[in-house]
Amino acid sequence: MALSDEELDRYARHIILPQIGGAGQLRLNAASVAIVGAGGIGAGVIPALAGAGVGHLTIIDDDRVELSNLHRQPLYAENQIGERKVDLAARYVGKRNPHVECRTIPDRIDGDNVDAILSDHDLIVDGTDNFATRLVVSDAAVRMGIPLISAAAQQFQGQVALFRGKPCYRCFVGDAFDADDCDTCAELGVLGALTGTIGNFAALLAIRAIVGIGPDAAGTLHLLDGLTLKWRQIRIAADPACKACGATSS
Ligand SMILES: [Zn+2]
Repeated sequence: MALSDEELDRYARHIILPQIGGAGQLRLNAASVAIVGAGGIGAGVIPALAGAGVGHLTIIDDDRVELSNLHRQPLYAENQIGERKVDLAARYVGKRNPHVECRTIPDRIDGDNVDAILSDHDLIVDGTDNFATRLVVSDAAVRMGIPLISAAAQQFQGQVALFRGKPCYRCFVGDAFDADDCDTCAELGVLGALTGTIGNFAALLAIRAIVGIGPDAAGTLHLLDGLTLKWRQIRIAADPACKACGATSS
């Protein structure tokens, strides 16, 4: 497999980086990433990964564009209110980079469909806005051995982490949020620019993980405070009793 002249030109600013080069770009081109949620976080992740030439993107979201999305979701425009987000996101990806194969799944992930939707991917990026879906996605990632980047933003706080096996997202949040009644983004609000920043940071983690550059970020939570502008890093401890990755899990 080799890069065409057009691809050498398109990805020139990547390829010139010694940590990426042609080999790293080919790894990006061959990679398959599932993006769960095409909302505020997804709208930061999708353009970055499409532009970077991640070759296979699967976008999963059952929402349609609403007026209240537009302050933070630059993939969508006012004249697209009511249209399905996955259709618009896929159209954007196609226009941005025709080398990227984009699959769309206009469903909400749950325990019944999660394995079928997320299997056969090299990486999962979760930017959904409720804990129940996040835990279903995380448990599936652990079960299938797929690295997971989990990203969230609420009010002025953003958090993003790469998980690879142990510790997992469930070790971090515990079991209290399995009930599907924790949709807090709508209730508490979020600064629009923060979701884009966190989504883009999630894409950075994804590209680092796919190419294999920099220290391994797995198991470290990155927190951004949009008021103090401070980033913090916290090592997440593995929970030995975790239902997903602990010793007693099946
Ligand atoms: Zn765990």
